[in-house]
Amino acid sequence: MEVTILCKVCNRSAPADQFKLHYKWRQVVCPRCQSGKEPVKQEVKVEPPKPAGWDQDDEYLEKASRQRKVETQAQFSKIAGSNLVKCKCFSCKYDFKYDPVRKTPYSCPYCNADIPKLKTFNL
Ligand SMILES: [Zn+2]
Ligand SMILES: [Zn+2]
Repeated sequence: MEVTILCKVCNRSAPADQFKLHYKWRQVVCPRCQSGKEPVKQEVKVEPPKPAGWDQDDEYLEKASRQRKVETQAQFSKIAGSNLVKCKCFSCKYDFKYDPVRKTPYSCPYCNADIPKLKTFNL
């Protein structure tokens, strides 16, 4: 089995037995760096990997869809001094009290729209 090690100069791996001490770098370098040319450093990517074919349009669309998602969700806010939360119906914007423990009412008392599950709310 061939052992490859990482070249400290260009950050690329090459077979270990091809590494040689180089006067310029004062360390062992891979065959590519032994030619004396300036090595092309591989960029260390900071961004998380994007799916193939990802471009700025996708990023815009993703952002837009994320915004849409927020808009179509009912909004909850805590009511001080009570276990209830205030819920704003995403469909008719009606404000009503919602009991997150009993999970009542099941739907908007005004327009009967479903109330999404209260996942992110910490009581
Ligand atoms: Zn190298
Ligand atoms: Zn409603």
